[in-house]
Amino acid sequence: EERLVSGYELTEDENEFSLRPRRLSEYIGQQKVKETISIFIEAAKKRNEALDHVLLFGPPGLGKTTLATIIANELGVNIKITSGPALERPGDLAAILTNLGEKDVLFIDEIHRLPRIVEEVLYSAMEDFALDIMLGKGPGARSLRLSLPKFTLIGATTRAGLLTSPLRDRFGMVHRLEFYSVEELMLIINRSAALLKTEITPEGSFEIAKRSRGTPRIANRLLKRVRDYAEVRSSGVINLDNAKAALDLLEIDELGLDPTDRLILKTMIEKYQGGPVGIEAIAASISEEVDTIEDVYEPFLLQIGFIKRTPRGRVVTKLAYDHLGIAYNKNDGE
Ligand code: ADP
Repeated sequence: EERLVSGYELTEDENEFSLRPRRLSEYIGQQKVKETISIFIEAAKKRNEALDHVLLFGPPGLGKTTLATIIANELGVNIKITSGPALERPGDLAAILTNLGEKDVLFIDEIHRLPRIVEEVLYSAMEDFALDIMLGKGPGARSLRLSLPKFTLIGATTRAGLLTSPLRDRFGMVHRLEFYSVEELMLIINRSAALLKTEITPEGSFEIAKRSRGTPRIANRLLKRVRDYAEVRSSGVINLDNAKAALDLLEIDELGLDPTDRLILKTMIEKYQGGPVGIEAIAASISEEVDTIEDVYEPFLLQIGFIKRTPRGRVVTKLAYDHLGIAYNKNDGE
């Protein structure tokens, strides 16, 4: 089932590449990352060398793939895009590496999901720009070293802590992408609206930005849904009224919470007095997988301070009670 406020790419985002910025100057927000990267790009170009390997981490939908594409553009080189799970055998990686041009960028999304045997091939590729291949089996086997073009690996992962340390140590630059502010999301929404040839008022843009969970991918997705609504129900111009009406209809509230987020909070409050409650108990109460709650729902609820993790389990905070309009009892929670 596809969740409208998921940061992961959904089928409806398929043609989102058309909204993707192509230059660093069009990439909104992430000021510190942009500044550092532009200096390194400049330096690499001056020395006529490949850029150092870059690791980008942060939640889905924050612009890791976009940034990798921009880096390649700014360097004036080609980019090859793949992902950890797609590289099943060392041969899959070898085929890609041997086809890269000098100074090209290789982007590996979900790099923490590379199989171990493939990851090991990557070590010498990153460090020595060489590929060690075993020929034959048993006592007669020998290894052959193939040299590779100097390339730049850009790895992306949701959490830096998921990487093994030998892999992590081979990146010259490690950058964390942050959630976007409402103001930054408004700039993204306005830019996308212009590309979609849709008129939008500042109030309409603000309303969508507020409910986008700090995530450009969600902002663009909600913009498209609101645009459909505005075209059918009004003149087609997105404003405060139709943005509100459309998002209410989609059951996405003022803070970007969807019905499952609210169900999780209400269950914790009504069945467990606000906690502490174990994640397994929450999962069982709402018939959801523990992993799904931890990976998909919990991060945002933690981020906005609606849930706290304690050694004895999860606790709902007063902020969440206030948002849901439920009276906070001091004995609840902690
Ligand atoms: P990730 O790889 O982190 O999951 P993407 O790079 O695919 O995220 O970004 C999702 C979409 O959000 C992109 O297609 C792009 O349209 C938009 N986007 C992401 N970051 C930015 C940004 N800084 N400025 C403008 N649009 C952005």
